[in-house]
Amino acid sequence: MQTCDTLLRGMVICMDPQRRVFLDGYVGISAGRIVAVGKAADCELTAQEELGGDGHLVLPGLVNVHSHLVQGCIRGMAEGTTYEERLFGFYYPMTGACDEERSYAAAMPPLLDMVRRGVTTTADDHFTHLHKRSIDGVLAAVRDSGMRCRMARLTINDPNAVPEGFREDLDTGLQETERIKAEWETELTSVTASTIGITYCEPDQLKQLWQWTDDNDRQFDIHAPAVLDQKYLAERRGWEGGSFEWLDSVGILGPNLIAAHAQNLSPGEAELIRDRGAAIALVPDMEQVLGLVDFDARQYLDTGVTCGLGLDGPVVAYGHDLWTAMRGFLTAQRLGDQHRRLSADKQARWTGDEMLYGSGELALELATIGGAKALMMDDRIGSLEAGKDADVVLIDRRGETHLSPPAALIPNLVLGNGPSSDSVSRVMVRGQTIVADGEHVSVDRRAAVKQSDALQQALLDECDTHRFVRMRSRFKWIN
Ligand SMILES: [Zn+2]
Repeated sequence: MQTCDTLLRGMVICMDPQRRVFLDGYVGISAGRIVAVGKAADCELTAQEELGGDGHLVLPGLVNVHSHLVQGCIRGMAEGTTYEERLFGFYYPMTGACDEERSYAAAMPPLLDMVRRGVTTTADDHFTHLHKRSIDGVLAAVRDSGMRCRMARLTINDPNAVPEGFREDLDTGLQETERIKAEWETELTSVTASTIGITYCEPDQLKQLWQWTDDNDRQFDIHAPAVLDQKYLAERRGWEGGSFEWLDSVGILGPNLIAAHAQNLSPGEAELIRDRGAAIALVPDMEQVLGLVDFDARQYLDTGVTCGLGLDGPVVAYGHDLWTAMRGFLTAQRLGDQHRRLSADKQARWTGDEMLYGSGELALELATIGGAKALMMDDRIGSLEAGKDADVVLIDRRGETHLSPPAALIPNLVLGNGPSSDSVSRVMVRGQTIVADGEHVSVDRRAAVKQSDALQQALLDECDTHRFVRMRSRFKWIN
């Protein structure tokens, strides 16, 4: 008998290339790595610590491929506002007023949302550098959460799209990226450069930001098409084609590019993305909340484009919940499919033979191994396989009424919005326990809520943005 540090027992969903699920399985962990996975009956390990057993479920840690954590301070305030109202009205002013300490307080609640429901890796795009160390506050919160993170520091400077004060020259942007890389990179955190979207940065500078990522063997993370591309791409860049065609025309569209949203493409762009080997950060829950009925992930998935699931900033990603995103992926795709079906044939009727697209299993793949591939981390995370890092979630199903009875466990898990935090017995990153019995092991969530509440109040006063609170509310709010 060999000894390992930790042995997890239960139903093991591996997400390995064969997509094995061991109904009664085990995962052995030593020194932060998975050392063995298999059927309980074949287990030849003893352990210092043994967890799980009957009624437990073992999953790879979930991967969120898109966020802007500093927007924790304006969580949900998008509701009742137009895009331009929120972007220039409170979004830039309030996140821009976040220094290092405030950014920490803004980022912690959404981080806890994620980690307490089994997300072990997040990508983040930070672009409000009025305070140069704002991004450091987010990175400190990520460090304290224990999560894995791919942070992109976005340089923005186009005078049409970016408010004054937020514009940075390229040298400053790259110097700061180098600083953050030197100060913050660890086994769990990596840093890269980028910009928000094509129309947020001078074209030659955008190319140089990309060049930095290529030289440093990093990802280039960009919103495409970004909302303002629709407004400015033709007008300011003289480009009538699509955003991806533009990226391709300047030599940026390639395997190190990950594009967030990637909806409303020009004809042929999905094939172009596939041919160039770029990855897509699907953001289905947000698209759905914003009413985008033509959301289409199949244009990528059916042709083998690497896709992960992302949440976007808490200003529009209510609850910061990747389980909701999994459900949103299925419902948004199915609504989109029906929209396209009815657009093609108004008389279309159900015959009863239709098969709805996708499944809970597919959604769970996107939120684990898909996300790991999209972030170019699948050599280390995304599945439970010997040799990979032990980023693992253990769920105790025994008190989960919404996951009983178990015949349709994965559909219930995904379409039922996941496990309750209470049932998340363990979340481990690289073998380190960061959540035990639904609670973070070192971060006090009540203190985090208190700090985040106080921060929002201070920012609303300071930025004079109270008018956006409960904007267009139907209710009468009495003091
Ligand atoms: Zn975004």
